[in-house]
Amino acid sequence: MALTDQSTSTARPDFDLLRQRYREERDRRTPSDAGERRYLDIEQGFSHLLDDPYGERVERAALDEDVDVLVVGGGFGGLLTAARLRDAGVEHIRIVESGSDFGGTWYWNRYPNAACDIESYIYFPLLEETGYMPVERYSKAPEIRAHCRRIAERYGLYDRAAFSTQVKSLAWDAGSARWAAKTDRQDEIRARFVVLTTGPLNRPKLPAIPGIETFAGHSFHTSRWDYDYTGGSETTPMDRLGDKRVGVIGTGATSIQCVPPLAKAAQHLYLFQRTPSSVDARDNSRTDPEWWADLKPGWQQERLENFTAQFTQDLPPNDLVHDGWTVLARAVREKFVAAKGAADPGALLEQADLEKMADIRERVSRIVEDPATAEALKPWFSLYCKRPCFSDEYLQSFNRSNVTLVDTAPRGVERITSTGLVAKGVEYPLDCLIFATGFETSTSYAKRSGMEIHGVGGVSLTDRWAAGMSTLYGLQTRDLPNLFIVSQAQAGMSPNFPHMLSEQTLHIAHIVEQCLARHIDSVQPTAKAEQDWVATIVRLGESRRKFIEACTPGYYNNEGRLSDAEARSAPFGGGGIAFIKLLRQWREQGDFSGLEVN
Ligand code: NAP
Repeated sequence: MALTDQSTSTARPDFDLLRQRYREERDRRTPSDAGERRYLDIEQGFSHLLDDPYGERVERAALDEDVDVLVVGGGFGGLLTAARLRDAGVEHIRIVESGSDFGGTWYWNRYPNAACDIESYIYFPLLEETGYMPVERYSKAPEIRAHCRRIAERYGLYDRAAFSTQVKSLAWDAGSARWAAKTDRQDEIRARFVVLTTGPLNRPKLPAIPGIETFAGHSFHTSRWDYDYTGGSETTPMDRLGDKRVGVIGTGATSIQCVPPLAKAAQHLYLFQRTPSSVDARDNSRTDPEWWADLKPGWQQERLENFTAQFTQDLPPNDLVHDGWTVLARAVREKFVAAKGAADPGALLEQADLEKMADIRERVSRIVEDPATAEALKPWFSLYCKRPCFSDEYLQSFNRSNVTLVDTAPRGVERITSTGLVAKGVEYPLDCLIFATGFETSTSYAKRSGMEIHGVGGVSLTDRWAAGMSTLYGLQTRDLPNLFIVSQAQAGMSPNFPHMLSEQTLHIAHIVEQCLARHIDSVQPTAKAEQDWVATIVRLGESRRKFIEACTPGYYNNEGRLSDAEARSAPFGGGGIAFIKLLRQWREQGDFSGLEVN
């Protein structure tokens, strides 16, 4: 039996029926064979969609240099690494970045209305160090980019940056104990240490929809917005779409943000949806300068840790951020108090989640006027199965007469023709097609970073990880000495990505500084330490694996097909705070435990 919409009723939802509906919605979207839910290699026929529409490539002589640390990537990860290294007294660094400025994901993602839905007071790194007060609680992309530049200036990083440059290969030379890096601009950089901060969502992906190569209208990916075509900017209305039929594929966090301005600008907007996102209220506000002035030194670290702790089993007694991200933790805390502590926290969490999602669906019914459209926009999965979204304009867009939601569930867009998109047998003619289809996450690191990495004896990173990722603390891999990879895979996790970056980069800077001070040529994990860490990740990752396998397909669960090898890229199941403590203790111990030192 399919569950009809109970969310308009104020009665307590029937949990069994909801669980059943979740399973049905997941099952009908789960691919029946590997040919479904496939994505294309964007470089095969669509590499023009990777061109940088934002910056000038400045000509310069090729670099031929020796540095202590090569940092690959100039987003938050690269900036924090460089800042931490500077604080640790490590001066000889080089930062290589493919964009024409610092910013990383915020350099590339300049779609209209782009903003961060993590609170700016914890999302912006180094607020106390830079003395900056964000304008709003949830910041728009230009302000975040400006903060990236602020950090770079504060730590004197512009002189050490090579922009519009891509590292193509890294090879370990055991004789000199150096990494040799080659770039697409003929640079040759020899580095004692390399830190890879290429980001988790850096390579746009396109769905392998039959006929995609035949579309004769204009098209682009959201992370390379074509303002020459649309007019306007991130913050001003697009003024060249008034006579255009625009199609958007995808309804993830990006689409939720760019749909409202597109709805206002396009002659007609068609939004092609396979799975709706959960969309809660945004409720943004300007920063209160009095509240800001009252914050005591150390406030940001306290707020960061308090937020991340809301996603662990050891819930703190208070919730400093208190927003749509921490809503389940609050509900669990209240239920726990009501049950006088005599309840299973896991069961309380599930109950809080089912109730919250019923609220989210009720919100859709309240806002969207057309009942069929409202029904199609309701998400039937747990809140954290997909990235929760927040907007005070997205659902409202569907009340406009020039906006059509095309529900393509469960299989997605069927075909692309030279003139439009076909879904469920109906062709929708389009002038412009925008891919809000996300980023590669499950392909090899070499492919996502565009870099070949060869370590001891020429072994490649791809081969080292052929059976799944293998690291110590997610940061270091055996046979790739003096190399650090910054990501949340096999490392601590927080929905607030910069929090973990902040802690990981402290750890990296500590190791580098110690190696330089103690004249250590190379460090890499021992085989045993690496094996033990992977075993810990797998063991503690079991419950998360069960959770995401029960989720509707998406990039969190490799489109519903999670293999053992992929499951090894899980974050540390002990939680973000326990991970931070582990790294801190390791540093305090001071014996480089688990590392082989040369
Ligand atoms: P995404 O979450 O991966 O969304 C991709 C969308 O494309 C999904 O809705 C997917 O549908 C759809 N899709 C793919 N192939 C399709 C097909 N053949 N037919 C129909 N639909 C298809 O990508 P994103 O929205 O760019 O977001 C990526 C991540 O960036 C987010 O999860 C978040 O971490 C980050 N982000 C953050 C913010 C922020 O505020 N901080 C803003 C934007 C993005 P299915 O769901 O059915 O697969």
